[in-house]
Amino acid sequence: MIPARFEYAAPASLPDALALLKSNPDAKILSGGQSLIPLIKFRLAQPALLVDINNIVGLDYLREEKGWLKIGALAREADLEDSALVRAKYPLLHDTTLSVADPIVRNRATLAGNLAHADPANDHPATMLAYRAQVVATGANGNRTIAIDDFFQGLFATALASDEILSEVQIPSPVTRSGGAYLKMERKVGDFATAGVAVQLNLDAAGKIEQIGIGMTNVGLQALRAKRSEDALRGEMPEAKWIERAAMFAQEDCDPNPDLRGSVEYKRNLVRVLTMRAVEKAVARARGNG
Ligand SMILES: Cc1cc2nc3c(=O)[nH]c(=O)nc-3n(C[C@H](O)[C@H](O)[C@H](O)COP(=O)(O)OP(=O)(O)OC[C@H]3O[C@@H](n4cnc5c(N)ncnc54)[C@H](O)[C@@H]3O)c2cc1C
Repeated sequence: MIPARFEYAAPASLPDALALLKSNPDAKILSGGQSLIPLIKFRLAQPALLVDINNIVGLDYLREEKGWLKIGALAREADLEDSALVRAKYPLLHDTTLSVADPIVRNRATLAGNLAHADPANDHPATMLAYRAQVVATGANGNRTIAIDDFFQGLFATALASDEILSEVQIPSPVTRSGGAYLKMERKVGDFATAGVAVQLNLDAAGKIEQIGIGMTNVGLQALRAKRSEDALRGEMPEAKWIERAAMFAQEDCDPNPDLRGSVEYKRNLVRVLTMRAVEKAVARARGNG
């Protein structure tokens, strides 16, 4: 299909990009284009103007600072995949990146675009919920920080205003005895998730689960936090009886739709199994056995 007509601008600075967004309410930001370009080609999106931010220098960073891993808007999936820091200290993020599409898509796709798109089938939203991450939205009046629980607001909907750019993702740096894991069931390599579960936790000195975050992919209109499952494990030893109970809560609390990838019953069961396995893997990693 041929896209509808649109204007194109590639500003070289953030202020110029923000000015274009402010004066064009029907504009869309173009980052890696891996979600937006297909939408435009199918005419599911018909922006009047594309604001391509790829010429803005200095947005592709990945660094630890003041207790956070800070990831700039133009850091690509491939940058996360290749980062020794991410592999060593942020295994949940590393797992998630590796599960996104294929290397060709990952060379262009950005984490910021993955979150801003807010597709419930995208992998990073659940991971960011598990991490208790936050994002920085930059607009004409400066920056505002949005907690991840407030960011996703439904199907393809976020707390970003149309004239704001998601400029940075911030993930808390891990404390001692931390571990995380992302498990995804896909029909074939490169497919979106039938279901996915992200877990990030840390153990206290006695080996109990001190803090835990659990996010679920593609089993609701947006990425979901498994709050009852988190509560069921917090303060407990990571023993089978508690993990199975928490997984049962996740099975009950997710809200999948039936589609070509499976029935509601199948997806709920999948969430239960993935939750158990992801918690076990995260615990093993927290113990240094990952
Ligand atoms: C073949 C294929 C397979 C895929 N498989 C997966 C998969 O398995 N898992 C998965 O998670 N995703 C998958 N995707 C989707 C895609 O990889 C992600 O959605 C991608 O990360 C989006 O990032 P992007 O930089 O390409 O965003 P773009 O496509 O450029 O933009 C996506 C949306 O976000 C907005 N946006 C982008 N950047 C910003 C910003 N900085 N601030 C504000 N708004 C912004 C755009 O305006 C647009 O609405 C797949 C895509 C393809 C083509």
